[in-house]
Amino acid sequence: MDDAEKLRLRTRMQEELVRVRQDVETLEVASQPIAPDRALGRLTRMEGLNDKAVSEAALRLARKRLVQLEESLQRLDGTRWGLCVRCGNPIGAARLEYMPESDCCVKCAS
Ligand SMILES: [Zn+2]
Repeated sequence: MDDAEKLRLRTRMQEELVRVRQDVETLEVASQPIAPDRALGRLTRMEGLNDKAVSEAALRLARKRLVQLEESLQRLDGTRWGLCVRCGNPIGAARLEYMPESDCCVKCAS
């Protein structure tokens, strides 16, 4: 992978990072406890609780992705960039293109 490609991936990951950070903020608000004094009918309240569970699950995923992106941005400058953390073989270019935050090759990931 040459420097131009690296730069392109870095830009993409930084953009993604900004987006995921916004997602986390939005989801943090959405997973706040539902105020008991909120005038909701029973059904609406159950829907609200359901939405909350969905938001919490999404929030966990978004936070995980945030960490992954931050870590791979740090790795990008190191000598291990593009190498599988488990087996040490190069990670395929297509995989990096699709998921720049990958830290292991297709074989080890499956
Ligand atoms: Zn591997």
